[in-house]
Amino acid sequence: MAEIVFAPLQMGFSAWRDVARDCLAAGLEPSRVEWGAPQGLFSAFGVPKPEAPAPMPTVPRRFMQVARRVAHHRDDRRASTLYRVLWRLTHGEPRLLESAADPDVVELRTLDAQVRRSAHKTKAFVRFRKVEAEDGEHFVAWIQPDHPVLPLLGEFFAERFSDMRWSILSPDASLHYDGKSWSLGPGRPRSAAPTHDELEALWKTYYRAIFNPARVMVKAMTSEMPKRHWHTLPETSEIPGLLADSARRVDAMLAMPSAPEGPTAHALVSELDDLASLHEALSSCRGCELHEAATAPVPGRGSPHAPIVLVGEQPGDLEDRAGRPFVGPAGRELAQALEAAGLSHDEVYLTNAVKHFSYAPSGKRRLHSKPRATHIRACRPWLLAELERIRPRVVVCLGATAARALLGVEVRVMRDRGTPRACAWAPHALVTVHPAAALRAKDAGRAAELRAALRSDLARARALARGAPEKEVESS
Ligand code: SF4
Repeated sequence: MAEIVFAPLQMGFSAWRDVARDCLAAGLEPSRVEWGAPQGLFSAFGVPKPEAPAPMPTVPRRFMQVARRVAHHRDDRRASTLYRVLWRLTHGEPRLLESAADPDVVELRTLDAQVRRSAHKTKAFVRFRKVEAEDGEHFVAWIQPDHPVLPLLGEFFAERFSDMRWSILSPDASLHYDGKSWSLGPGRPRSAAPTHDELEALWKTYYRAIFNPARVMVKAMTSEMPKRHWHTLPETSEIPGLLADSARRVDAMLAMPSAPEGPTAHALVSELDDLASLHEALSSCRGCELHEAATAPVPGRGSPHAPIVLVGEQPGDLEDRAGRPFVGPAGRELAQALEAAGLSHDEVYLTNAVKHFSYAPSGKRRLHSKPRATHIRACRPWLLAELERIRPRVVVCLGATAARALLGVEVRVMRDRGTPRACAWAPHALVTVHPAAALRAKDAGRAAELRAALRSDLARARALARGAPEKEVESS
């Protein structure tokens, strides 16, 4: 009987790939390779080293993508599963991955899904705390992922938080970003990270705002937000109080005179993972009466990775008919302002605080009617869900409705415009004038002033998003 060889088992893709390549070059069938530390008498049988480095055989790109993730699964069987699939792909079964019922493929997919879920949770549950270091601000987060996925997320976090210096620590590994590039370091204990800072209050406010007492499902909550993450999430200290108060709040909601018939925004958004699903589900919303008279809801548009989200008030007449935001006169005004500020379409995602057109009929015309506070409140979960999925670097509130929807009623556009502030959905939030304001200005001088304000605030948003100096903008 052919002897068993022991292959070193290490975490990460390149470590596994180097050994797997040698095993393949030596013609070792998967049943002859034991992944792990050699034991006792068998310690002599290591993987034979080829004289020259063996090339990695050609395999489907999909396998390589999956293998890069699966190599970060905590379970030791990751290495043997990957090797079995690799062996079969290179020994007469190049289309193996298409066999969805094959046990090896099923196992590979299961491991991959678990790693992807862990990466998704890690992205969602990182909460930075500010540390004042000698050389300035540094942000530190500590997290305990199910699988050691931090090395997979360096690029993601570097792109998302490119305008600050940060470290993400975990028991397995740590990620560091110095403002230019990211690097990987050893694991760190929880005691290495701070536990409190002033950003906590923002998270708590945000969580209280999105908590829906009518949809309390403790089991689902603990599955989506596993308890082991709670100690790193500032908002979880709010959960016991919110749960205790949920029955009273549900009674109060039921007693309200005009509870909407049909699914509300709150009820719909919590099940949805990505922007495309959110956009699709929007047409089912019956969260307020605006859907009754409007043509259709108008979802946001733009890249799901846009660093800047621009939030307007509501769709206008043309947007309502086209089903796209900012396609009317205000949209043209905004497009010119974006161009003047040096922003490309790829860099922005456009949406509104209220998704259905609010209007008053006047003969054949439909005249814009400002959405009421109840509409803004009812529609807010859609906006928050968009921001949660995009996680931009800058949110720009175009006008008072957007500012109130996100930053509270105390905001005054002309007083507060252009001054960056932190918010729970982005490192920077800016308030500026709505592009329609210039169109409604009483004279040309006022219109030019408002236009200049919008352009310079967008230039500031651009600088914040890129971490670059502000660009001069033309004022007309
Ligand atoms: S305006 Fe918003 S809350 Fe009201 S029905 Fe439309 S999508 Fe739902």
